Amino acid sequence: MQPVPFIDLKAQYKALKEDIDARIHKVLDHGAYINGPEIAEFEQKLAAHTGSKFALSCANGTDALLLPLMALGIGPGDEIITTAFSFIATAEIIVLAGATPVYVDIEPDTFNIDASKIEAAITPKTKAIIPVSLYGQMADMDAINAIAKKHNLIVLEDAAQSYGARYKDVKSGNASLVAGTSFFPAKPLGCYGDGGAIFSNDEKLIKALKEIREHGSESRYYHTRLGMNARLDTIQCAILLSKLGRYDWEVEQRNRVANRYNDAFSSIKAQDFKTPKVRSDRQSVWAQYTLTIGNRDAFQKKLTEAGVPTSIHYPRIMPDQPWYKEHASKSVGSLENARWAADHVISIPMYPDMDEATQDRVIAAVKNALA
Ligand SMILES: *Cc1c(COP(=O)(O)O)cnc(C)c1O
Repeated sequence: MQPVPFIDLKAQYKALKEDIDARIHKVLDHGAYINGPEIAEFEQKLAAHTGSKFALSCANGTDALLLPLMALGIGPGDEIITTAFSFIATAEIIVLAGATPVYVDIEPDTFNIDASKIEAAITPKTKAIIPVSLYGQMADMDAINAIAKKHNLIVLEDAAQSYGARYKDVKSGNASLVAGTSFFPAKPLGCYGDGGAIFSNDEKLIKALKEIREHGSESRYYHTRLGMNARLDTIQCAILLSKLGRYDWEVEQRNRVANRYNDAFSSIKAQDFKTPKVRSDRQSVWAQYTLTIGNRDAFQKKLTEAGVPTSIHYPRIMPDQPWYKEHASKSVGSLENARWAADHVISIPMYPDMDEATQDRVIAAVKNALA
């Protein structure tokens, strides 16, 4: 039997093929490969979908987080508080901007930054907080925004994994001053290459971001600030326009798959075995369905043998990564929950088009591995 796909992007393409192909060909025909008319249409739709006043497309999720730091003038001498447990881009953009990441621990059940540990990390140098909406679930944004307000700090949501997620009645991207998301193919809303977007309600900030995205130019060949080339390709934008059309349905399907996993695994008793927890005031978009387990290596091996691929997001906390350990490892408080997570998390297949027969194979493999 063929292994189960970890994410089945081909099934999704098959469902949308006619529309995606037509949109790509339209771009090939009109020839505006950069800044084509699809870009403005997509940005308007993104803004409407998140409830954010403005959305700006860009080249990838890393740029979507770096550009706001550049626009806000964050740089050498500044500190930014963030979670210890994320994809490396979260720490990378802080260092690229010239600032210093300061890591704090996570909540053991949601794997998101523990808001109650942020204030202890604030110094006169602190300029911003970057919460990450990990695995598709937002952090405690009310608590984080309240701390930021009290200490006059910027909040930048790393929404790379959470496009479409909800915290109370606010969508991811619209729950802080500014946010950045990623359209990397494996993200919940992905294109067929690299892509990203930035969200804000602040018109002045958006104007600066637009200029930075285009080599810091206020008008053609007139460069009033340091910028870069951070635009989204029109062809990728055409693909995203097609996918956005059925995205709300996809989020429902991801929740259906997650609920079915939760039910199937509820009676499993194994050392450190836990199913993912979503707070009652949030809706996750399930970028990953991530379990914890005691003997992870043995569990992973058994699933691989049963044709069920897994992935570890992430096997090492950011300050323990070799380069960061040497150059950017400042933390406040213990990082024990983050280190525990790095040693115990394991993600299993999750995608909106997963049918029940395929999911049953994954469920059986998990149960057998722990029997
Ligand atoms: C994927 C990801 C990024 C970076 O996005 P790219 O589009 O790959 O540059 C940043 N932060 C987190 C948490 C991510 O998962």
